[in-house]
Amino acid sequence: MHIVAYLKDALSALGELFYPPVCSSCGNHLFKNETEICQMCIRRLPRTYFEKRPYENQVSIMMWGRCRVECGFALFYYRKGERVQQLLHDVKYRGNQKLGVELGKQLGKLINQANPNLFDELIPIPLHPRKKRIRGFNQAEVICNGLAEVLCIPVNSSDVYRKTHTTSQTKKGRFERWQNVEDIFDVANAEQLKNKHLLVVDDVITTGSTLEACINQLTAIEGVKVSVATIACAAL
Ligand SMILES: [Zn+2]
Repeated sequence: MHIVAYLKDALSALGELFYPPVCSSCGNHLFKNETEICQMCIRRLPRTYFEKRPYENQVSIMMWGRCRVECGFALFYYRKGERVQQLLHDVKYRGNQKLGVELGKQLGKLINQANPNLFDELIPIPLHPRKKRIRGFNQAEVICNGLAEVLCIPVNSSDVYRKTHTTSQTKKGRFERWQNVEDIFDVANAEQLKNKHLLVVDDVITTGSTLEACINQLTAIEGVKVSVATIACAAL
């Protein structure tokens, strides 16, 4: 082993001795085979089980009449002030990218159980370049990296882009949200996406307006099918 790699390993082992890794959700110590979140939390957090009915669940039904969506997946339900919101907050605003990758892997496992080998590419909902620069990463892309490891399909972060910087969505009504995002995405390389089944990925789905705007750009391309996967889905 190279001396630098050896030292790195030794230092990380030493660090773990003094600061053993803990679960981002419950704070308990993690076992060797766990990363960022413990198995207990994965089982105890409010799972949606959408993968049992991928073509007919809250995500796909939410999109009916608004855009064409094949399957919808979400790992957990999302409620304000609860642990799932804290986890996503950790990824997005505290820069815990490792947790984002791990949540992506967990999501990938259940997608694989439901519909293996269905998708050609992963499309993270793009951030405006300015926002990405400020945050340093796109959380949807980080989640895609975890998904890609399990589903063994590539992440395509270049063919869809965000052309306008939007104001915050949180205080807007549904119609205002939709108006705010209707025209914010564009496709750079439609030819490359033709006839593919794309899995569009975001951290959370609330009203679905942002996803709808992105999906409508994609389904306008010849032969494209779109499915949706998020870590969390707002509980009704
Ligand atoms: Zn835990």
